[in-house]
Amino acid sequence: MNDSARFRKHDPAFRWEGVETRAYKNDPGVPYRDVTRQVLFDDPALRCELRYFEVAPGGYTTLERHEHVHAVVIQRGRGRVLVGDAIANVMPFDLVRVPPRTWHQFRADEDACLGFLCLVNHERDRPELPDAAALAALRETAEIAAFIRTE
Ligand code: MN
Repeated sequence: MNDSARFRKHDPAFRWEGVETRAYKNDPGVPYRDVTRQVLFDDPALRCELRYFEVAPGGYTTLERHEHVHAVVIQRGRGRVLVGDAIANVMPFDLVRVPPRTWHQFRADEDACLGFLCLVNHERDRPELPDAAALAALRETAEIAAFIRTE
């Protein structure tokens, strides 16, 4: 099946025909644990990409921020999400919007995966990782200090 396929069948394990399961990030040294990425649509006409990410139990995405926005629809499992100064429990079909320049991290629960669709601009800036000052500011809130994972 080529990149312009009109139809791709889903299989029951959150995999799609002809869609490669990739590493979450290509950049070495960026902190995260047990996350895979599948690019479902990357359409120049839409100027958007729709990705499916899956965080294994106990895993987490990178704590980061950037100019581009994320529009997220939870699909599978359970977890918690930090957006800015708020942490929320999430489950399938909950929506998460990550505004520009806002620190965010997705964590799966210890006993469940966390799968979600994430819509982004095709052209987008590179994520920024927190420096020591940004981490210190985040850690001023006890709940955030206990939540974030940076290794
Ligand atoms: Mn991000």
